Amino acid sequence: MLDLLSRREFLTSAAVGAAAASARHIPYPMRPPRALPPPSRWAAKPVAVASANGLRAVQKAFDLLMQGADTLDAVIEGVKIQELDPNDDSVGYGGLPNADGVVQLDASCMHGPTKRAGAVGALEGIKTPSEVAKLVLKYTNHIFLVGEGAKRFALQYGFKEEDLLTEHAREVWLHWRANLNPNDDYLDVPEGEHMTARPTGTINCDAVTPQGDLSSVTTTSGLAFKIPGRVGDSPLIGAGQYTDNDIGAAGSTGRGESNIKVCGGFLTVEHMRRGMKPTDACLETLKRVVKATETRLLDERGRPRFSLQFYAVNKRGEFGAASLYPGRFAAHDGTEAKLMDTAYLYERPAASR
Ligand code: ASP
Repeated sequence: MLDLLSRREFLTSAAVGAAAASARHIPYPMRPPRALPPPSRWAAKPVAVASANGLRAVQKAFDLLMQGADTLDAVIEGVKIQELDPNDDSVGYGGLPNADGVVQLDASCMHGPTKRAGAVGALEGIKTPSEVAKLVLKYTNHIFLVGEGAKRFALQYGFKEEDLLTEHAREVWLHWRANLNPNDDYLDVPEGEHMTARPTGTINCDAVTPQGDLSSVTTTSGLAFKIPGRVGDSPLIGAGQYTDNDIGAAGSTGRGESNIKVCGGFLTVEHMRRGMKPTDACLETLKRVVKATETRLLDERGRPRFSLQFYAVNKRGEFGAASLYPGRFAAHDGTEAKLMDTAYLYERPAASR
């Protein structure tokens, strides 16, 4: 390389490199809580929306917004409640494992005001992947860390490695493995002892502050019993979630593979950019999902055999959610945290996910 450069060119490029390196100072996107302006000067109606398992998340996020917290800090603190809850087998600690019985977690987040993003995929041994995604956003020049590297990164920042497989999740996995194939060496478990857990799950949370600052986070243990190494939509910026501080934020739960193909988080924000209300934007994205679905995943009437939901909030604080089949979502609209009905495309529930 040096042979090809004159000394002058080398010095110039070295100087540029040094300047670039010095520009890579540690940013501080999240700010400490600060007093809110009086309501007469609010740019937005503060709200937080989440998937149906996010009632506590929207309450927490909204409380933090009202204390003047940063928009991303608020949603991360919200979803952490679910990540740390061993009884939610779709997220973080207690999440259902992959086919090998190992819990691998995915998460991503975006911070509207600083236009930054962070994500982790196939992360093992760390209970709160959303926080690790935030550290990727905050302290690195990268966006997405996976597997062993993501874990080492988390450990360097003081996270503790822990066994994420709870007794409940282990039992569900053992049942799944036993009943997988009648001809293998695992005896099928008796009738009535089938696993009861939902095969997928995730939490997405999106919020806008009174100043109109937006953020989004999605965190999951992914599809239960997935092929080891499988990464879903949740940690993919533009699929699992997306934020544009001028427009809105959106995120998704449900069959990740179907969302990835339409970049649903991004697409929903783009629909809002074109003037759609959040609920309509979510419905429009679902229509695109159906168009992009391969025949094997459609029933005889052309309806998806899986479920998928989108959640969205715009810069003014309008919000909504939509699903393929009737569903619920969580929202704090300034009065209280509540579960609300989603808009939906089809009446009949899916036969399977
Ligand atoms: N979207 C998640 C994934 O595909 C799963 C879910 O939300 O249920 O990994």
